[in-house]
Amino acid sequence: MQKLSKGSTFTHAELAEIDKKHYLHPTTPPKAHYLSGPPTIFSEGHGVYLKDLQGKERIDGVSMLWNVNLGYGNEELAEAAKQQMLKLSYSSSFSGQSNEPAILLAQKVASMAPGDLNVCFFTSGGSESNDTAFKLARFYWKVKGQPERTKIISLDQSFHGVTVGATSATGIEGFQKFTTSNAPNFLKAAAHAVEAELGDKTDPNYPRSIRGTIEAEGADTIAAVIIEPIQGAGGVRFPPKGYIQAVRKLCDEHGILMIADEVICGFGRTGKMFGVDHWNVVPDFLCVAKGISSGYAHLGAVIMREHVREAFVQSDEMMFHGFTYSGHPVACAVGLKTIEMIDRDNIVENSRMRGEELLRGLQYLEKNHKYVTKVRGLGLLAGIELFRDPESGIPFDPSEHAAAQYTDICMDLGLQLRYFDWKGTNTVALAPPLIITSEQVEEIISRMDQALKRFKEQI
Ligand code: PMP
Repeated sequence: MQKLSKGSTFTHAELAEIDKKHYLHPTTPPKAHYLSGPPTIFSEGHGVYLKDLQGKERIDGVSMLWNVNLGYGNEELAEAAKQQMLKLSYSSSFSGQSNEPAILLAQKVASMAPGDLNVCFFTSGGSESNDTAFKLARFYWKVKGQPERTKIISLDQSFHGVTVGATSATGIEGFQKFTTSNAPNFLKAAAHAVEAELGDKTDPNYPRSIRGTIEAEGADTIAAVIIEPIQGAGGVRFPPKGYIQAVRKLCDEHGILMIADEVICGFGRTGKMFGVDHWNVVPDFLCVAKGISSGYAHLGAVIMREHVREAFVQSDEMMFHGFTYSGHPVACAVGLKTIEMIDRDNIVENSRMRGEELLRGLQYLEKNHKYVTKVRGLGLLAGIELFRDPESGIPFDPSEHAAAQYTDICMDLGLQLRYFDWKGTNTVALAPPLIITSEQVEEIISRMDQALKRFKEQI
């Protein structure tokens, strides 16, 4: 059989067979994957384009998992990793030992984060960052003499990751129910109930709002509230006006710590450096990953405010928390280079401007295709919904798998997108690399347009 990839000694079919036998895929239905045809096997990426083993090219409309913000195949990032690997490939940060890239990245991140978010704890990704924030929030209350403050409140439809803690905070039903048991002391509140959070007891969401939950449980049992500034995997759900400020105010009223999960929003995705910058809110913990290294290294961080560090350094307690790869010098060197490029190449401004173009393109699709509705976007984070009849609010029947069908057509037409069909919705997410050009935004819209025409014939 023909060898399909330059440099690969295997055919696509051979790799597909090995994949099915030996590789259990994350966030994939195992049975459907096992029974389906050969999977897409990516082989190359350059800029915003991806190639698979069969030579098919796609423009990446979603930065793979909203993380490849500076695009693929970047030589400067590769060089930063290589140089650091040759100089010092690994060093621990345990017992107070340190390394230069970790120290300098902590300083750089502190200089960029809003307010007095000045102290970094490094992780290898978003789930670890959120788990760390939960543990540090509880540790904070312990050293402050209020160890009974243990509960974490998160929102319906939130996604915070897949470790036991992060899954326990996640509000999307499938993740919640995947295993038979989650961690205790994680409470769910209705998402985005702004009137209730502002104190309106007539809001039907009040009992399940964050405010209602705090009142029912007792503020002195709550360690922290975690929110995503814009919910990502929940379906690109934007908060109503005033919501993020209302959550901050509510936390202040009750002395509760606020955690912002900026694993998607951080480092320019929404057209500002951090999502909370849109609302001038400073959380107590800000969790990041993905964009901090543009997917070139496994890296995340929890950035915390001065008063949190103060509480820790005034206590004699040991920090019984640390990953082997906390402050990995290679990951941190890649993080430093990523941030240098974000600054130097005006990446955040590009995200803002190309985001406006993307939104206009999506609005054009909404005007010209009867199934498209609820277009929303901020910077290069956007979503649309597919409805059978948007005007009367009639959704597609779940058995039609409309969003899945549509993204399959997009894939076929050379556009990589993701969909979310929780609770009968059909959301298609867009989050292209932040280096995208105007022409490439047009290319995405043009392929979506073509795909909608085919979708109309097919559905
Ligand atoms: N939080 C949010 C908002 C995310 O979108 C994700 C990943 N999609 C995570 C946390 C988990 O990050 P990771 O997969 O790096 O553990």
